[in-house]
Amino acid sequence: MDHQSDYARHAGGIARIGRASMFRVGLGQDIHRLVPGRRFLLGGTEIPAEKGELGHSDGDALCHAAADALLGAAGVGDVGELFPPTDAAFKDADSRVLLQTAFGKVKKAGWRLVSLDCVVICEKPKILPYRERIRSSLAAILEVEPSSVMVKGKTCEGLGHIGQGLAVEVVTICLLESVWGETRRKKRLTVHGRNR
Ligand SMILES: [Zn+2]
Repeated sequence: MDHQSDYARHAGGIARIGRASMFRVGLGQDIHRLVPGRRFLLGGTEIPAEKGELGHSDGDALCHAAADALLGAAGVGDVGELFPPTDAAFKDADSRVLLQTAFGKVKKAGWRLVSLDCVVICEKPKILPYRERIRSSLAAILEVEPSSVMVKGKTCEGLGHIGQGLAVEVVTICLLESVWGETRRKKRLTVHGRNR
């Protein structure tokens, strides 16, 4: 698709959502059982642990929750719809690829990521020593600086299924900016720059 028709399609999308909607927030959540013999993956980073995430795909709860936040903000579907667990094509799938595919849909709809904030809730292992690797890995997929992605580890203080080490839960929130709005803002800054 050429640039002009891309722009026209995008401008049409903006007209539909209203010119005031230059930013969108999205919320994502995911939970996976933790079982022996599986890898513990967060944002594509493998963390040494006694148990790992059970799932049809590789079980990376952070990638899934991030994808849901992005898709939700752009209004273009959700993870369950895009990558159904009943589809053999996604058996043991690398969730970084699923996140990349979801982000592709978000970009195609005319949005870029401003920031992503994530809370990982599990009793074990500790997330902090792996945080920078996780941030860098997610940032590379989502085409932002690592400073635009934050990951925090929390425990459940021994309470409930997560507290007993039976599951990991991830909650994410993201902010998207319309590419059209970004272009307009940059243009305005350039014009102001020239006037000085
Ligand atoms: Zn999942």
